[in-house]
Amino acid sequence: MPVKGRIEVKELLCKGCELCVGACPQHVIILSPDRINAKGYHPATLAVEGCTGCGICSLVCPEAAITVYRDGSKINKLNV
Ligand code: SF4
Ligand code: SF4
Repeated sequence: MPVKGRIEVKELLCKGCELCVGACPQHVIILSPDRINAKGYHPATLAVEGCTGCGICSLVCPEAAITVYRDGSKINKLNV
């Protein structure tokens, strides 16, 4: 059974730097084109299914804005 991951982005913390977008090996993160946070940035979001819950996006985010879940459980370290 394939691993299922998902992320939660604290939109208020996101500064739209796209580090997570570039780092995601599954290419499933985009900056939301139709949302703007209180700082004026388009926040990161999952664009499509396919997140494995590897945790890389959370690791590279300078704002600690991303929480990663793998098979329903929050992960606290890199899980590749
Ligand atoms: S946990 Fe891994 S696969 Fe999922 S969005 Fe983050 S970098 Fe991409
Ligand atoms: S790395 Fe963090 S701050 Fe940068 S776009 Fe992704 S979620 Fe936002």
